[in-house]
Amino acid sequence: GADSTPSTSSTPEVPRIDTSKPHPARMYDWMLGGKDNYPVDEELARYMLTLEPNLPLMAKMNRGFMHRSTRWLAQQGIRQYLDIGTGIPTEPNLHQIAQEAAPEARVVYCDNDPIVLAHAEALLRGTPEGAVEFLHADAREIDVVLEKAAKVLDFGRPVAVSLIALLHFVSDEDGAGRLIERVKEELTPGSYLVLSHFTTDFYSEADVRQATATASARGYNASPRSREQFERFFDGLELVEPGVVLAEQWRPELGEPVPGQGDSTSSAYAAIGRKV
Ligand code: SAH
Repeated sequence: GADSTPSTSSTPEVPRIDTSKPHPARMYDWMLGGKDNYPVDEELARYMLTLEPNLPLMAKMNRGFMHRSTRWLAQQGIRQYLDIGTGIPTEPNLHQIAQEAAPEARVVYCDNDPIVLAHAEALLRGTPEGAVEFLHADAREIDVVLEKAAKVLDFGRPVAVSLIALLHFVSDEDGAGRLIERVKEELTPGSYLVLSHFTTDFYSEADVRQATATASARGYNASPRSREQFERFFDGLELVEPGVVLAEQWRPELGEPVPGQGDSTSSAYAAIGRKV
């Protein structure tokens, strides 16, 4: 709850926010119209807009999937959540949706960007009945994430683990597949894996090459994946209806339509898998 000691207090030194190079969390914040970004982030975000003018709308559509999937999970009776790559908080954040449905819900957030850590206080404002914790940790060190999360969550009971718009920053070489396998191993039957993932299935090869090369030149990895590669993350799980769809097509009835969406697409695949 709000009065529990954030795990961040054990970190003796708060990592510095590096404003010399762009960070995905801050670029995403800029796309969503937030203020927690720096000129380097805005500059690269604006460059990406020349390749895909719809990025701000796509970010909102992805965010909408987070809202609706959390509502749906709460309806299934899920009361424990581990959200990896949570991002800079925006209203409503995952714990607000989960705890509105069930005040006793327990939520662990994780992100490796110090800017998200700087907002941990806002992320930690939950209900007194439930729990909200923030872990400053790297998804690629998934064992550390799971071990720390287990101090707040009981993995012996169902947990929803979400990596929403995260895995396209983790390459195969960096162990995206292994990371997901490890998560699935940890889950007890009745648990869920929630993913959304940017795809380049709808773009020209030239644009994709330019975007990924620009990202790596600026110091971060971009690994867009195909529908087939996305589906593989759910191997061994039972996909819940409607299966793998674009983020905006995932149970639209559970949320508000995104203003201006029209015929636009998020270019992000989304799905939920259930451990059986
Ligand atoms: N899940 C949110 C935010 C997506 S932006 C949403 O969909 O709205 C992607 C987030 O993942 C950023 O906050 C970024 O800092 C975080 N991230 C990227 N790589 C990460 C890693 N290896 N470990 C943990 N978080 C990571």
